[in-house]
Amino acid sequence: MIKAPIIVWFRRDLRLADHPALSAACDSGQPVIPVYIHDDQVASLGAAQKLRLDLALAQFAKALADRGSRLILRKGPALDVLRDLIGQTGAGAVYWSRLYHAAANDRDAAVKSALKADGIAARSFTGHLLFEPWTVETKTGGFYKVYTPLWNAVRGRDVAEPLPRPAKIIAPQHWPASDDLAAWNLRKPMQRGADILARHCTVGEDAAQDRLDTFITDRVGDYVKGRDLPGIRGTSNLSENLTFGEISPRICWHAGQRALRHGKGDAEVFLKELVWREFAYHLAHHTPRILTDNWKEDWDAFPWNTDITPQVAAWQQGRTGIPFVDAAMREMYVTGTMHNRGRMIVASYLTKHLMTHWKIGLDWFADHLIDWDPASNAMGWQWSAGSGPDATPYFRVFNPVTQLDKFDKDRAYVTRWIAEGQRKPNDDALAYFAMIPQSWQMRADAAYPDPVVTPEQGRRRALDAYGNRGF
Ligand code: FAD
Repeated sequence: MIKAPIIVWFRRDLRLADHPALSAACDSGQPVIPVYIHDDQVASLGAAQKLRLDLALAQFAKALADRGSRLILRKGPALDVLRDLIGQTGAGAVYWSRLYHAAANDRDAAVKSALKADGIAARSFTGHLLFEPWTVETKTGGFYKVYTPLWNAVRGRDVAEPLPRPAKIIAPQHWPASDDLAAWNLRKPMQRGADILARHCTVGEDAAQDRLDTFITDRVGDYVKGRDLPGIRGTSNLSENLTFGEISPRICWHAGQRALRHGKGDAEVFLKELVWREFAYHLAHHTPRILTDNWKEDWDAFPWNTDITPQVAAWQQGRTGIPFVDAAMREMYVTGTMHNRGRMIVASYLTKHLMTHWKIGLDWFADHLIDWDPASNAMGWQWSAGSGPDATPYFRVFNPVTQLDKFDKDRAYVTRWIAEGQRKPNDDALAYFAMIPQSWQMRADAAYPDPVVTPEQGRRRALDAYGNRGF
């Protein structure tokens, strides 16, 4: 008797190893049809994410093809696409890995109940997080609003060992038709920056695993110091892989734990960073409004600027005249990522020195980050602005000049990213000018601009505004 296939609906889990949904489908002994759906949530991704997704899908399709399987691509509302495929293939089940932000949650819940009503086994699995958000509770049964107690609650928990890649992915007798990836035009929104950005991406499961191995061997031992210095490679750079699920957090967690057992004490801080990612999803699950609204409601009364003023445009375009801010904004434009220290500095400058709503920064990041993650981005912005849980207090206004002296003493970072004023700027600094729109009218050989707002002016203005509001 021919067994009904199982559809595995891939989203932010483009890997074969440690994939509970895929493993369950393969273990059933039934044929498996891997599917990726371009629905309105994919359509709403930022330009850099779309380009990165294009690369990720091409690589993942190849990994499946190497195992005698295929990645079927379809466009349209997820439920319609899945019903269509079920009709065409006789599939009896759809499996997927859970996501935890509101838009995905709502879509998935609707798909699950509709498929169940159709008599299809719709099952969601873990995989994107270490700990399901509803399994982490305070002693009184609530959720965590502060990071450290959450860390203390989970640090000693058993985390299951990662699953191996499935030994075999049984192909269906007949493959359904697939769209052509190129026809999705995912690279188009990046326009002339596409080729340069693509060169900065490290794509696919094997590359992600290599990245983790290199980090654990060479860098985790000095992570505490190295992770704060944007001029060197001191962190894992795994965020672009984690957000697309090219590596699982469990694989990273166990690698960190092994390093710790082998005497690399700094690995504990790496584990803590992985748990910051968990915390972001914990908050997104329990308080979905963190993605869209001030988490602390009293911030609704704060007089944020909500316009793209010339100063805000200067922030977006990396020409505020504050080297740390401009270097970081240009790093993001060219590479699609930004060092964590840079993210904190530019977010502080926008929300405090320029008193601009964090949502303007959140949206700009969403359009330019290849490692964009809905939960971490929102938590990071609200932390920086002061409106989020466990946020930096309002009076903590980063001074981007003293921060530069502290974290980029030898100016390696700003020299790498700011061409103006250099006799022979390097390729990265020049790449920025090859990517940005000509309408910005910026030239590498122009003079570096004066500050749009000096650190002292901005700090005073922000503190006055906060003080007047009684924050
Ligand atoms: P590592 O230092 O090697 O850390 C390992 C992993 O831990 C990271 O890959 C990431 O998954 C997680 N992690 C580390 N720091 C944090 C953190 N502060 N919050 C949540 N998870 C963390 N991270 C994203 O992945 N996507 C985003 O869209 C994003 N937006 C941010 C916006 C702002 C304003 C701020 C302040 C931070 C943001 N972060 C975001 C968090 C952090 O900056 C990045 O995760 C980190 O820079 C990624 O580099 P890495 O992979 O080398 O990290």
